[in-house]
Amino acid sequence: MDGVLATSGQPLYSFPMTEEMRFCQACGHELGDRLVDGKPRRHCGGCGRTAFLDPKVAAALLALVDGKLALVKRGIEPALGRWAFPSGFVDRGESVEDAAAREFKEETGLDAKPGRLVGVYSGAGNPVVLVVYEGAVVGGRLEAGHDAVDAALFDPDELPPLPFPHDERILADWRALAG
Ligand SMILES: [Zn+2]
Repeated sequence: MDGVLATSGQPLYSFPMTEEMRFCQACGHELGDRLVDGKPRRHCGGCGRTAFLDPKVAAALLALVDGKLALVKRGIEPALGRWAFPSGFVDRGESVEDAAAREFKEETGLDAKPGRLVGVYSGAGNPVVLVVYEGAVVGGRLEAGHDAVDAALFDPDELPPLPFPHDERILADWRALAG
């Protein structure tokens, strides 16, 4: 399955639900498919291990500059060319807050300090767990980078249509937190 369709029909991130894994990371034997506890899993006939696929954790940061929200225009699929929250995947061994600030810096050029948790967003059949923080901009200069082709500030009451399934709920949660 390519990507994950949520209720709106838009994939949250282009990340296959059952990422093809061909070889056992423990012994190098070729993996096969097997039902484990009723779920299809990749299984190693060499050493008998089951290769579990973990969820992907992504982080986003919502931060205002002079009362306006920093958004980025996506330079990659899905939602190529659409305005979206600055976000990206958490590296293994990186704190989620640090990842949110790092991605924000990479995509907007702005330094931000992560603040309160806005929420954690996940769904059945979706491999991505998105963690959203509010943040305070403490420096930098607005300039698109990394996977973003543009970065701009928007009046929170006049945002462009956002592309991902959780976006409206994230905005509502963020407004409730700020209010
Ligand atoms: Zn093995």
